Amino acid sequence: MSDFVIAPPETVSVPVAGGGSFPVRRVYCIGRNYAAHAVEMGHDPDREPPFFFQKNPDNLDPSGEFPYPPKTSDVHHEAEVAVMLKAGGRDIPVERALECVFGYALALDMTRRDLQGEAKKLGRPWEIGKAFERSAPVGPVRRVEEIGHLAEGRIALSVNGALRQEGDLNQMIWKVPEMISCLSHYFELKAGDVILSGTPAGVGAVKPGDAMTIEVERLGSMTVRVV
Ligand code: MN
Repeated sequence: MSDFVIAPPETVSVPVAGGGSFPVRRVYCIGRNYAAHAVEMGHDPDREPPFFFQKNPDNLDPSGEFPYPPKTSDVHHEAEVAVMLKAGGRDIPVERALECVFGYALALDMTRRDLQGEAKKLGRPWEIGKAFERSAPVGPVRRVEEIGHLAEGRIALSVNGALRQEGDLNQMIWKVPEMISCLSHYFELKAGDVILSGTPAGVGAVKPGDAMTIEVERLGSMTVRVV
C-alpha cells in the first residue's frame, strides 16, 4: 500500500517502434541550433555557447493531434529530432556521450511565438511560450540498434503539403554528443531524459485545420493535425 496523499500522476511515456514504451523523466530543448534559423530569429549564427530550456514531460504527445492553445494568435511549428537517453551521469565526455542514447524520434517544438517574443523582450523565462499543454507532438521512438545514430540526413516540415522547413542534421551547430556532454555539466542526466535538438530555418504559424508533416531521413514521417 502506498502512502500517497493524492493519486500519483501517471508516468509519461512514448511508444517505441516494434513494441514497448519509453518512460520520460525530463525534456531539455536546445535553442538556435541551426545557423539559418538563428539568423531568421534575428541572431548571430556564430557558435556561441549552447543554451537550453525545458518542456514538461507531459507536454510530449504521441496522439497525432495538436489542439490550438489558448492565449496566443501566433503558434509556430519547429521540426526537431528528439534524442531519448537510456543512461546519463554528470560530466559526460563528448566521446562517450552517444553510449547514453537509446533512440531517436520525430518531434515538434510547438511555440506560442507571440508570448515567447514578449518574454524575450522583458527578460522573462520562456515557459509560457514553450511549455504548454501538448506542446511537443512526438512520433514513435526508433532504437539505435535499428537505425544507428543520426548525425546527418534531411529534415523537413510541410504544412498542407507545402514545404516550410528544410535542412540537414549535419547543419546542427552543437552536435548530439556535444549537447549531451554540455547538459551533463549543468545537470545530472538520467535514463528517461529527452533532448529536442533544435530546428532548421523556415518556422512559421499554423491555424486550426492545418496538417503538419515532419520528415527526417531514417525516422520516416509523422503528420500532426492542428485541431
Ligand atoms: Mn525548438
